[in-house]
Amino acid sequence: MKRIVKKDGKILEYTLICSVGRKNVLLQALPEGKVRVYAPKNARLREMDSLVLSRWDWIKDAHAAYALEKKKNAFNPENGVLIEGRCTPVVFCRSVKNDVKLLDGVLFVSMPALDNQRMEEEIKKYLSKLALSKIREALELYAPTVGREYGRVTIREQKTRWGSCSGKKNLNFNWKLILAPKEALHYVVIHELCHLIHFNHSEKFWKEVEKRMPEYDIWRKWLRTNGRELKI
Ligand SMILES: [Zn+2]
Repeated sequence: MKRIVKKDGKILEYTLICSVGRKNVLLQALPEGKVRVYAPKNARLREMDSLVLSRWDWIKDAHAAYALEKKKNAFNPENGVLIEGRCTPVVFCRSVKNDVKLLDGVLFVSMPALDNQRMEEEIKKYLSKLALSKIREALELYAPTVGREYGRVTIREQKTRWGSCSGKKNLNFNWKLILAPKEALHYVVIHELCHLIHFNHSEKFWKEVEKRMPEYDIWRKWLRTNGRELKI
């Protein structure tokens, strides 16, 4: 249930969740200004209100920290964007039509007005298309060495995976591979293609990967170490 507490003319809303199994009270300050209190079934509402009031400053500090983190992670064109491992400057151009172009190592983004969120979306769309074309190029390069048929090739927004090969031999790739150095993208393409030979991560599978990219382990480790930093 939603509850509201007041202090110095300011209000704070929190969600109270009472359950039979719970013995103690747990208070959580969550992102986006949310507060949650887990309490035993017979908890007194007034006591829960005063608990929230007593932690008022702590909750406000936690919410401010979340907001700062969000601001720090927000897309900022002044920082440029990573494309194939290189920091690429972003130049905004005012235009009635939305358009993104990569020219001589500079990303030109045309939009009616400067809006960082819209710009982030447009760049993401552009980079997903660029990722698909670079992945197709790599597939054309390595698929003949594997000699097996594959199905559809799709680009996805994935949190934890760089690529996957389905039982139906469809290949999926993470759009963020375009942010990584070219070799990392090639390693993932080779990795998924080799799953067409061995649908597992056996020693034989890794031998097939190594045949096509002797230094594959460098890029496997690179993605493991730097993958989380790959964002625009
Ligand atoms: Zn795999």
